[in-house]
Amino acid sequence: MIKKIEHLGIAVKDFEKSIAIYEKLFQTPCYKIEKVESEGVNTAFFQIGESKIELLEATKPESPIAKFLEKKGNGFHHVAFETDNIEGEINRLIKDGFELIHQTPKDGADNKRIAFLHPKSADGLLVELCQEKSE
Ligand code: ZN
Repeated sequence: MIKKIEHLGIAVKDFEKSIAIYEKLFQTPCYKIEKVESEGVNTAFFQIGESKIELLEATKPESPIAKFLEKKGNGFHHVAFETDNIEGEINRLIKDGFELIHQTPKDGADNKRIAFLHPKSADGLLVELCQEKSE
């Protein structure tokens, strides 16, 4: 089951500059910067009340974020929904006709297992499923 919005992902070209802007906007420091090698991204997280924002910068030209930024520039990139059973949710979505970019969960930033849905099957929206890794 999808429980709530876990975070919103925002693509940025100039990581340091954007972190400074968002720190000023939220009046709170970024609490975590983490590289996700497999996705070719650096991530920076902000906690605003119960909500989280993730900034993403590309670390290599073939990163999906680099391609997104080239086409659209800085801005909203994806919404991440939290689930407590990511395998079950992936299977449910496949059965319901959604196309998954990741059919098995992979390691994401911020101690999560993640899987992305293909935007063309989700009404144009890039959707990330995520589940907190159990220690
Ligand atoms: Zn994300």
